[in-house]
Amino acid sequence: MSERDVPAIEQPRIDATDCFWLAPAMTALRRAHASGRLGAALLIHADPGCGGEILAEWATQLLLCRHEPAPCMECIDCRNCAAHQHPDVFTLHPTGDSRQIRVEDTRAFLADLVLTSHGGGHRIGIVTPADALNPNAANALLKTLEEPPPRTLIALICTSPSRLPATIRSRCTRLRVTAPARAATLGWLTARGHSGDLARAAAVLGDAPLTLLEARADAVAHMATETERAVADVERGAGDPAQLAERWSRDEFALRLACLEAWLTERIRLSATAPNGNIAWHFGLLDALRELRREIDTPLNKSVALETWLWRLAAGGQAGSVTRSQ
Ligand SMILES: [Zn+2]
Repeated sequence: MSERDVPAIEQPRIDATDCFWLAPAMTALRRAHASGRLGAALLIHADPGCGGEILAEWATQLLLCRHEPAPCMECIDCRNCAAHQHPDVFTLHPTGDSRQIRVEDTRAFLADLVLTSHGGGHRIGIVTPADALNPNAANALLKTLEEPPPRTLIALICTSPSRLPATIRSRCTRLRVTAPARAATLGWLTARGHSGDLARAAAVLGDAPLTLLEARADAVAHMATETERAVADVERGAGDPAQLAERWSRDEFALRLACLEAWLTERIRLSATAPNGNIAWHFGLLDALRELRREIDTPLNKSVALETWLWRLAAGGQAGSVTRSQ
């Protein structure tokens, strides 16, 4: 889901030391750096909302802090890294309206990276999201990875490393970051003063701690409840799929689809133990809904696509009621 669709709240800045689920990756990084095994390229494969960029920021502090044990999180280098203002850290990301990282931006980034460092220490380049590199950009980056300048680290952050060329992946030290268990995430959110129906919000948005941290849990829970009522109406033939689809597609469409998927997933869980649960039909509906979610950023007609899905739901619900009445 795109982050803009989740009702958000402002959060104080957090760093890697606030994120308990990053601790194993931080330990691995510290050990690799201490033993000189870090290499010139790091691939951070992080699920959305799990802090890939926060971990990369901590890696810059680990390499650039001149105190022991590094990073101290307080010196000028650590603070500049946290403010994304360190003169030896460079970032490459999509620019303008493009969703891809272009080759000209990549060349400029690599040119900056190979200049002499300000502090005489490491120079670090961060590519985010690395799965947005277009083929020419990836090729330009690969040339630098094949012959990396000394004391240079390039950190690639991505959610789908399979979209990166194998030739780039094979040159990287890999780190995997996933969401912790739900109970641990909810405990962390509560400890940070987050309130509301967190469990319900997690059922809709998933367990990624930073996604939940930014979400207004009660607003998400409210939408989940409202969605359930509306689909119940559709299933018993009382709702108007066309009107509903039109209204839902205008506002917070991604969040609405997430609510629908949470509802349907729970239904499937319950159906698995119910007689005549009609699991195959439910899974067909779930596949169609997931396809809709995948295509959310393409110029599909949201309203028509959702209406089609709701009619399918309505047809199934009424067929079910006929079966039950016999
Ligand atoms: Zn420091």
